Amino acid sequence: MRHVAVIGSGPAGYYTAEACQKVFGDQVRVDILDRMPVPFGLIRTGVAPDHQSIKGVSRRYEAVALTDNVRFVGNVTLGKDVSLDELRDLYDAVVLATGAPHDRKLEIPGAELPGVTGSAAFVGWYNGHPDHANLNPPLEGPAVVIGNGNVALDVARVLAKAEDELEASDIVLHALDSLHGSKVHSITLLGRRGPHQIAMTPKELGELGELAHATPVVDPADFPPVEDDSALDPGQRKAIGHLRHYAQGMPDKPIRIVFDFFAMPVAIEGDGKVERVIVERTALDRDGNAHGTGETYAIPASLVVSCIGYRTPPIEGVPYDDKAGRFANVDGRVLPGLYAVGWARRGPTGTIGTNRPDGFAIAEKIAEDIADGSDKAGRPGLDSLLEARGVELVTFRDWQKIDAAEIAAARIGAPREKFVSVDAMMGARNS
Ligand code: NAP
Repeated sequence: MRHVAVIGSGPAGYYTAEACQKVFGDQVRVDILDRMPVPFGLIRTGVAPDHQSIKGVSRRYEAVALTDNVRFVGNVTLGKDVSLDELRDLYDAVVLATGAPHDRKLEIPGAELPGVTGSAAFVGWYNGHPDHANLNPPLEGPAVVIGNGNVALDVARVLAKAEDELEASDIVLHALDSLHGSKVHSITLLGRRGPHQIAMTPKELGELGELAHATPVVDPADFPPVEDDSALDPGQRKAIGHLRHYAQGMPDKPIRIVFDFFAMPVAIEGDGKVERVIVERTALDRDGNAHGTGETYAIPASLVVSCIGYRTPPIEGVPYDDKAGRFANVDGRVLPGLYAVGWARRGPTGTIGTNRPDGFAIAEKIAEDIADGSDKAGRPGLDSLLEARGVELVTFRDWQKIDAAEIAAARIGAPREKFVSVDAMMGARNS
């Protein structure tokens, strides 16, 4: 028997569990620990609420979770309820699937002003993550979104959508109510490089052109000659195609989503709260890197959301690559018996599906390293340790009760109304 503990119940965690089942069959027991009483990590609190089809992948994880050899162990915090050393003593392999929930820091003056927030908090707020449910962002005037990736697109789109466009989503009620009263009529997306360097995918960029009350605004002068598009890979070419289409002029609508390219934020200013972003015009060098030109201008803003990428929080005693913002590893191996997978292994890139081959690669590594399994205490060992500490663990069956309560509380047309506090989740589980 092999005993495997996976820390984190997001896509990387569940794909790892699924891969362990495939590789070891009945000869494995996988415990998936999560500090939240609810599973699925990024699927629940990262993926945009209006992208329900992407969230559908959790049904696949459910099938894995409901087998005998995989178990969800929710409401258990690594470093508080159980230490990493204890887990490494109890299990043959410990896999860190902790994702990258912290923002890459925006290191410019004024970044700490009220009204400036990172995407982790902003996305967590509209997705009902208990850590960010109280964010209450100011939706009083112009908004600036920093970054040209898919998260920046998610944030701009959610800010721009009308209430009825969010009806079928699982956006939480506090966010829906705030957005309903929103006075945001302009959203500027700041890209420090140009249209050819965006990190946005075509489907997501295309959605901006179909919003009921908002229209994308792109300056035709920002583009290189159209012939240059042929050097791009097909996905990027399609994405740029959307931008070129928007640049030809779109119907006027009350909310403008302005793409400001070659625009690097250099400071945020305001009297006690954000009032403007100071931006420096950039030019690209031969390698495509942005350099300031010295020309600066101000963009009014009462909300700034920085969407410039994420980092994995370090864990004491675990080798960490500070530059990359993830655990130091060689093909997922961190230390003997300790592995990393998903964003915790390779940094915050790729789609949900990228984690599937990642999970399988880690299961293969575990199989190479732990050929015969061991007599480690595994699951029963964890249970007695948690019981002795009075930790109330949440099983997958418990989650199904929470899930049913959320579905029962759904607004008309919505798939669920999420609980946004751990207490409320635990209450639903015990009811
Ligand atoms: P990302 O794709 O890495 O984009 C980060 C953006 O921030 C880039 O445009 C980058 O510009 C910019 N940036 C970085 N540092 C900056 C700075 N100091 N000042 C100004 N701009 C800066 O990250 P993400 O948007 O957080 O997305 C993370 C991953 O999740 C990606 O793989 C993404 O595709 C995925 N995702 C997918 C979906 C979907 O499929 N629907 C939705 C959300 C997220 P440079 O290029 O110049 O560095």
